[in-house]
Amino acid sequence: MSGELTDLLDNNRRWAEATTQREPGFFTRLAQQQNPRYMWIGCADSRVPANEITGLDPGEVFVHRNVANVVVHSDLNALSTIQFAVEHLLVKHIIVVGHYGCAGVRAAMRGIRVGLADNWLRHVEDVRLRHRKRLDHLPAAEQEDILCEMNVIEQVGNVALSTVIQDAWARGQEVAIHGWVYGLKDGLLKDLDVTMDRPENVVPTFATAFKRYPREPGGDTEFGVDADA
Ligand SMILES: [Zn+2]
Repeated sequence: MSGELTDLLDNNRRWAEATTQREPGFFTRLAQQQNPRYMWIGCADSRVPANEITGLDPGEVFVHRNVANVVVHSDLNALSTIQFAVEHLLVKHIIVVGHYGCAGVRAAMRGIRVGLADNWLRHVEDVRLRHRKRLDHLPAAEQEDILCEMNVIEQVGNVALSTVIQDAWARGQEVAIHGWVYGLKDGLLKDLDVTMDRPENVVPTFATAFKRYPREPGGDTEFGVDADA
């Protein structure tokens, strides 16, 4: 086995020992049941690990990650994970977390071909096209940051509109969807303040969220007309 992997296994043994010393019975308890309050939907980027940056231990956050933190209505992988989190683990909060400097968002913004993932990133490009009047007049670097945020807001909406969440709310289950962005440069999470926690606040929250990104000065800022302009 290569030395690099041996290092990982050695690290693991030290971590397991230290964890047991710090909290005897930690693994025995976790092995019986996980009971996380949070679900994290984030980018696969190695620089954005859910547990580390939120200070959470194993068992405290249920995680789904993919390229550019996208939730597509036909993606059985994401939807199944959300369903398990909501219906079996009864998580209280689902947090969609994007990050600035996301290579997937950058590729979608600039039309860079990366391979098979182009088809996946097409969903992010759709976000860009839908809101291009709010993006095109900005400097290039700012466009990428704003598209990272817009992508999060769109995915929060996608989670909220999924049958899993709609059914949960119809049953009276309390579960809220939030949108955050992580800064690679400072390690800080920013709350985009787009929390959706019941059916009637999905559309108003969505509409308000995009008004923070003005169209070209003098342009129409009314929500809902981006696509046809
Ligand atoms: Zn990313």
